[in-house]
Amino acid sequence: MRLTILGNNGPYPCGGGACSGYLLESDSGNTAILIDCGTGVLANLMGMDALDRLDAVVLSHLHYDHMSDLLPMQYAIQFHPRRHPLPVYAPRTPEPVRALLDAPCYDLWPCEDATIGEMRVRFTPARHPVETNAVEVTCDGARFVFTGDSNTDPVVEFFCEGADLLLADAGLSEADWKPAAPHYSAALCGKLAKDAHVKQLVLTHFNPKYDPEDLLNEARREFPAARAARVGEVFYI
Ligand SMILES: [Zn+2]
Ligand SMILES: [Zn+2]
Repeated sequence: MRLTILGNNGPYPCGGGACSGYLLESDSGNTAILIDCGTGVLANLMGMDALDRLDAVVLSHLHYDHMSDLLPMQYAIQFHPRRHPLPVYAPRTPEPVRALLDAPCYDLWPCEDATIGEMRVRFTPARHPVETNAVEVTCDGARFVFTGDSNTDPVVEFFCEGADLLLADAGLSEADWKPAAPHYSAALCGKLAKDAHVKQLVLTHFNPKYDPEDLLNEARREFPAARAARVGEVFYI
């Protein structure tokens, strides 16, 4: 699989940046899914001419930094008509936000295990203030796991076990992290990757108030091969 970073910030973008958005494509190029579609992601997707190629959108949760660009995406689809509505897998709550996705160009599905083209997608609940899922995608003999937004959670940790690439929510620095916070710290992402024996760790969801290099250094104390997601960067899984 090929992972392209379309957005790496949260809960708001840095100047010229974009919030959560990740394009995952099979080796054959025949299957493409977009995981999360936060602020700024649509512009980067259009820059790759990838809108027409999407087989589905998967939203880890319905915080705005993970879904807001699905609202203008419906206008883009009006000018790039599809043969079938675009399937969107999303939590059912918060209901007022979910209702915003109810557009004729979308085919709304709950977050349940699904086969999308060549990809097998599984979900497990994460620990966050709203209904949120970690997402696993298996394809081409490889396994990708995204924590979604989460703090430490044994279920998420079990879900990550042995992943070929773990994309992890490094929303907080070690100094700002608390047990009841909505995000992992970068250091805890490193520990998660080490304990779950993952092959590659990529940090994301950088709050613009931090320098991503500082977060990366925190994670590397636990997992020396950790990398920081950068918009436009491609990872092979
Ligand atoms: Zn977020
Ligand atoms: Zn969130």
